[in-house]
Amino acid sequence: MSKLIDQLIEQKYLKSPRIIEAFKKIKRADFLPPKIIKNKGREFVNQYNAPIPIGYEQTISQPLTVAFMLELLQPQQNDKILDIGSGSGWQTTMLCQIVGPKGFVYAIERIPELKDFGQENLAKAKYGFKNVEFICGDGSKGLKSQAPFDKIIVAASSEKIPQALKDQLKIGGRLVLPIKNSIWLLIKKDKNKFEEKEYPGFVFVPLIKDKIV
Ligand code: SAH
Repeated sequence: MSKLIDQLIEQKYLKSPRIIEAFKKIKRADFLPPKIIKNKGREFVNQYNAPIPIGYEQTISQPLTVAFMLELLQPQQNDKILDIGSGSGWQTTMLCQIVGPKGFVYAIERIPELKDFGQENLAKAKYGFKNVEFICGDGSKGLKSQAPFDKIIVAASSEKIPQALKDQLKIGGRLVLPIKNSIWLLIKKDKNKFEEKEYPGFVFVPLIKDKIV
């Protein structure tokens, strides 16, 4: 039993059965540096509703924020998803579980060490997911070679919505991303027509577009 997950359900952050199942199965403690687990313990980490540092000035996202964004994204079985800013790999792994073996997740991370960290965490946690590819690069450009996507989700905040991400979405597809301190949901109605909704009041690390140093 997880008090945190029950709380997120009660507060209506978690609603969809497939997302709830992923939260229950994919343990956050499997996606943190061993030192943190040693100091804090697995149970503490699994119940902790706040971001936690994963090195390189980045954090594993807050469970409440991940729940809120995934509910807006509405990932479905068989979806092809672009996950930008994969960091620890926690959300990426939940997406692998949700889309199932016939779906696919492309995970982009800008920092090479974190790309490896996320990829290794997924492998080490032994969920056995093969429906995923980790790529090191600038996610603000999307991933043209694999476009279009059913869903695109971004974990780091920019000043405005990158045009490439709008272009690389299927008609009917959903894009969830932070812009400044808001989460935005865009639903692609037609080639140049989007339904947009803003949800203010969140904090994110910045989406960095310059080259990797
Ligand atoms: N879902 C992840 C979130 C990590 S924080 C988790 O829960 O672990 C956001 C991540 O976005 C960081 O790892 C950061 O390095 C990455 N990031 C920032 N700018 C990026 C860019 N332009 N392209 C890809 N990743 C980026």
